[in-house]
Amino acid sequence: MLCESCGYDVSGTAPDRMCPECGVAVAASEPERRDLTRLRMGFWRLVWAMLGSPRLSARSAAIGDAKIAWFGVVSRLAAAMIVSVAAVVPMPFYTDVTPVLLVVILPFVAADVFLVISALTAIESVGIRFFGKQRGWRITREVAWTVCDLASVGWLTGACVCGAGLLLLHVGVMQEMRLIDTPHMPVFGMIGAMTMLVGLSIGLLQFELLVYLGVRQCRFANPPRVRRYDALGGPSESAGIQRADREPRGAS
Ligand SMILES: [Zn+2]
Repeated sequence: MLCESCGYDVSGTAPDRMCPECGVAVAASEPERRDLTRLRMGFWRLVWAMLGSPRLSARSAAIGDAKIAWFGVVSRLAAAMIVSVAAVVPMPFYTDVTPVLLVVILPFVAADVFLVISALTAIESVGIRFFGKQRGWRITREVAWTVCDLASVGWLTGACVCGAGLLLLHVGVMQEMRLIDTPHMPVFGMIGAMTMLVGLSIGLLQFELLVYLGVRQCRFANPPRVRRYDALGGPSESAGIQRADREPRGAS
């Protein structure tokens, strides 16, 4: 077990003592303190926690928590759905795309967007492990994914702005095609394209910022203790640090 403030090994230090290196209470580094998903159940409460207090949320996120992994997948999936619906659904209004064809192409577009976002998230998780190793931090695969899954809420915010931009872009095209009669200059397309770019930037920047904040809070995070039965037959606890280091995420 490492001190979460400075990374000093406090395995042999009693929980009621202070870290010999930095003086922070050893109890503050106990993995049981990481109880984010126990306190905040449900997708929207986690979204709210990450947007409102990202540092505190990352500080209390259990490493390798399956609920956080689920939160990451749902965030990326929702982001992909929002962008693809905004990109494709208005098409029948001014193109030959029929609603039936729409139903066929929508899942493909959504899957593509989801894959791109997921690939970027995976690249980031490898990046922070590499970066952490250079800094002497302990960013395991579990830590990296817990941080990246929490930060995936950034994709969701970006997707909402990007989706609004795409809808405006559609309006702009319809205006250009004289399908919508407006007395004003056809500026919707321009505003839409700009909003879309802003949305993309917001998604990327917020994701990166949340990863950065998360890494700072989890660079020495202790994984949950693994309970096991020792040779004497009684339950005992092991820190589970080496286990977590070796076992790749999602190996099962
Ligand atoms: Zn310390």
